[in-house]
Amino acid sequence: MLTFEQARQRVIEVATAHRPKLDVEQGQLAQVVGRILAEEAAADRDYPPFDRSTRDGYAVRSDGLARVPAELEVLGEIRAGADVTPRKPSSFGLIKEGFSPVQCYQIMTGAGLPQQADAVVMQEDTERLGEDSVRVNKPVALWQNVVRRGSEAKAGDVLLRPGARLSYAELALLAQVGRAEVKVFARPRVAILSTGDEVVEVDEAPGPLQIRNSNTVSLAAQVTLAGGEPVPLFNAPDQEKELRQAIETGLSADALVLSGGVSMGKYDLVEKVLKEMGAEFFFDAVAIRPGKPAVFGLCRDKLVFGLPGNPVSTMVTFELFVVPALDILGGAPSRPLPTFKARLAAPVRQKAALTHFLPAAVEWTSGEAVVRELPWQGSGDIVALTRANAFLVVPQSKLEWPAGEWADVLPRRGML
Ligand code: AMP
Ligand code: MG
Repeated sequence: MLTFEQARQRVIEVATAHRPKLDVEQGQLAQVVGRILAEEAAADRDYPPFDRSTRDGYAVRSDGLARVPAELEVLGEIRAGADVTPRKPSSFGLIKEGFSPVQCYQIMTGAGLPQQADAVVMQEDTERLGEDSVRVNKPVALWQNVVRRGSEAKAGDVLLRPGARLSYAELALLAQVGRAEVKVFARPRVAILSTGDEVVEVDEAPGPLQIRNSNTVSLAAQVTLAGGEPVPLFNAPDQEKELRQAIETGLSADALVLSGGVSMGKYDLVEKVLKEMGAEFFFDAVAIRPGKPAVFGLCRDKLVFGLPGNPVSTMVTFELFVVPALDILGGAPSRPLPTFKARLAAPVRQKAALTHFLPAAVEWTSGEAVVRELPWQGSGDIVALTRANAFLVVPQSKLEWPAGEWADVLPRRGML
């Protein structure tokens, strides 16, 4: 049986080899947060476009401050976005020709340095003596408090490439270089098909032994959070003919995710029907709990995931195996599983030789991450999962941990 890391790796390889060609859409910056860039974005000019002061203070020649305190003549001021405003009209020419080591301009944060200034003394290190003179109390190094023109990027430099994920910094960069609209890849369409004779839709009244279809809802949410476009289908009964028809419908999307019907039961038909439809499987079990019977294959060149139907199993296996596939299908590199270490608040002990993903609460009240396993009734317990902000990962290789050790934690997406 594959470990979950091996199974993820399979998914990544197969998704990379069978990535469908994605359509490209044009979007305004405000509409494309979280989307994947489908074109290059280059610097339209140097960044910064001018030698930029990072402080309120005085633009000086650093060679004039070899000895401090020094008294400098103030020729004028430079506001952000503006050229020099000379104190005396006669001093304007100095901006072009430069100025002497004993002269300076008052300058504001974000303003451009005048010719021959090569540093900014910050206001806090000066004392204004009057209209036209200032005392500088500290020396300043060459280009101190200045970001030089072109030091962040040169005009024409490619700053973002196809496949870049557009989060707030990337959107700010696109705004900075004047791209109000950009091309992004269309989201991969993911058909969601729940199975089970006992399952009724959310707006139906369940009989005493029936349950409502929560998996289609959680899966659609997970698809959206992972950057895909959910295509929720109906619930299919545990009957071969109807299941086959439902799968046919699902295969028109870019990928198909099924829930339920992949265990060992007499009516768990998903794998059988997929096989009859010509599917090739890359795994049909993973050494994890919950989620051991998870199935991954290709059917008519489409990725198909058969996730176990217990709601928490469905959620965990989606995070482990479907998310990396959606990254790749969406036109981006797959993101690593964002686990981190937290100290165990209490000992943990598991018996089955599987890697366990247990509902857990992480807190930082003591200044470091502390994780506590939460009580739950197993993989059908959605109630317990809503109290958790993470999964505590108990690896197959070490099933017993004393309190105080650093354990792996997988955040619940969006909750930490
Ligand atoms: P299965 O994987 O089909 O053996 O189902 C395992 C458990 O998950 C059973 O208790 C099912 O009733 C439950 N289950 C299956 N599908 C869903 C669904 N769509 N929503 C909520 N629970 C489900
Ligand atoms: Mg079932």
